[in-house]
Amino acid sequence: MSVDTATRPDVVADTRPEPWRLYDVTVARVERLSPTFLRVTFVGDDLDDFASGGLDQRIKLVLPAAEGGYGHLVRGGDWYTAWRALPEEHRCVLRTYTVRSVRGGIPGLPAEVDVDFALHGETGPAARWALAARPGDQVVVMGPNGRHGGPYGGIEFTPGAGADTFLVVGDETATPAVSAILEHLATRAADGHAVKGEVLLEVPCADDVLDLVVPTGVTLTWVVRDGAPTASASSRSCRPRPPASSTAAAAARSPGGRHRRRAPVGGSRRRRRLAARADRPAVRLARR
Ligand SMILES: Cc1cc2nc3c(=O)[nH]c(=O)nc-3n(C[C@H](O)[C@H](O)[C@H](O)COP(=O)(O)OP(=O)(O)OC[C@H]3O[C@@H](n4cnc5c(N)ncnc54)[C@H](O)[C@@H]3O)c2cc1C
Repeated sequence: MSVDTATRPDVVADTRPEPWRLYDVTVARVERLSPTFLRVTFVGDDLDDFASGGLDQRIKLVLPAAEGGYGHLVRGGDWYTAWRALPEEHRCVLRTYTVRSVRGGIPGLPAEVDVDFALHGETGPAARWALAARPGDQVVVMGPNGRHGGPYGGIEFTPGAGADTFLVVGDETATPAVSAILEHLATRAADGHAVKGEVLLEVPCADDVLDLVVPTGVTLTWVVRDGAPTASASSRSCRPRPPASSTAAAAARSPGGRHRRRAPVGGSRRRRRLAARADRPAVRLARR
């Protein structure tokens, strides 16, 4: 609810720029990391303003509307209400992705943002766009605005400074987020904090196993689905053991991943409780 600061002098108006904004970006590079993973690197004139809290920072990929491209896209203000009010054919397509990395502030080099796409054929507009992406392609991304000064929102992994034991579970759509979380945990360990735990990543095939940073004390287990339904392989064949006092996180961002809640990662009642609570302390079990 907005407050009329003219009649409420006790309320100080927030005059900062919006926490999120649209960026017009261009594809600089496309790199196939594995059969499933495709890294798209974006550049853009104003990406120096792009802020990312790291971890599982989410953004929106904004694809042109079926009719009018970006012509009906409201830039700023209550863009979301305006977007919802549009007829479907004028609405840009919004899909949620994770910032895999941001490189900025290097004199002489343009700021870059990497997004890792888990390809799933041509069934959806975002995967279809990624599959066809080539250097020079232009698109719009909605992301955190560095000029706002933060916090920006869009990070679910907030374990707290005192947490030292982690259980993180994800499928391929959560792999970019989990990869960044692992890098964060490695930095945390390098800074002298105790870090231990288990990370389980489920991917479609053996060639999707990526070379990730894994801090000492953390075990990363890859579960290869090999044609099995999403989450069934990890819940059946791998039983990570959360030690006492764990922070649990389950991140399954594809539609099939919804089953994870019904197929907890462990057998004991404690593990089932942890998995069922997984959306609270850290990475939310996200839906499309
Ligand atoms: C917070 C958050 C962060 C995310 N980060 C990433 C990320 O970094 N990388 C990434 O690849 N995805 C990520 N996702 C998942 C991504 O938003 C969805 O996979 C999205 O549905 C893809 O859009 P689409 O247009 O390709 O397919 P849609 O139009 O949404 O779906 C079309 C069809 O494809 C099916 N489908 C959609 N996604 C998948 C999939 N992954 N596997 C199999 N079938 C699928 C749908 O069920 C539907 O039948 C994230 C989701 C959330 C909520």
